[in-house]
Amino acid sequence: MFLSTYVSNCVSKNFKVLSYSYLFENILKDDNIWFSSDEIICPDCKKYEILSKRVDDLNENEQIEFNKSKEHIQNFTKQYKFYIKVKEAIANGQYSTDTILIVQDFSQIRVQKGDFYQDLILTYYYYENNEFKHQFKHFISNDKNDNFNVIHTWGKLLKTDDLLNKMKQIIIFSDGCIFSTLCLL
Ligand SMILES: [Zn+2]
Repeated sequence: MFLSTYVSNCVSKNFKVLSYSYLFENILKDDNIWFSSDEIICPDCKKYEILSKRVDDLNENEQIEFNKSKEHIQNFTKQYKFYIKVKEAIANGQYSTDTILIVQDFSQIRVQKGDFYQDLILTYYYYENNEFKHQFKHFISNDKNDNFNVIHTWGKLLKTDDLLNKMKQIIIFSDGCIFSTLCLL
């Protein structure tokens, strides 16, 4: 798949097509993908993992906590299926072109030892000119866990982003914090 895309790109631009082995052994071999080391684990998923191991031996409070975390896992599955459904419908042009799907996520960028900066990542999925398109947007804060930056970014985007201004329906997937963000705008 990657190779055929590469070859057709080369042909369309009149570039020399490199051989498979040359491409992988000499061009791509030094590419490194870096993963963030500070993985943030969802507290509800973690709770479910711990409590589900001793389901027959829970006290009253733990039972309540267990039920809550189980519901969280079930909701996650439901929401994930809904997300895939919406994304596929947009990808296939089944929604009108004035509907956009936005996925909000966060990462941290480590600049120097101990210095973390919040990275708010928004991915836009939309359908335009008979094509499924996506855009990644990164908004880096000069702090970590910077709610003000998230609120400000959304406020500015909703007022000034040309693509969003064309949309009649914006479907947003995020963790819980998006609701407090949008309420404050
Ligand atoms: Zn979770």
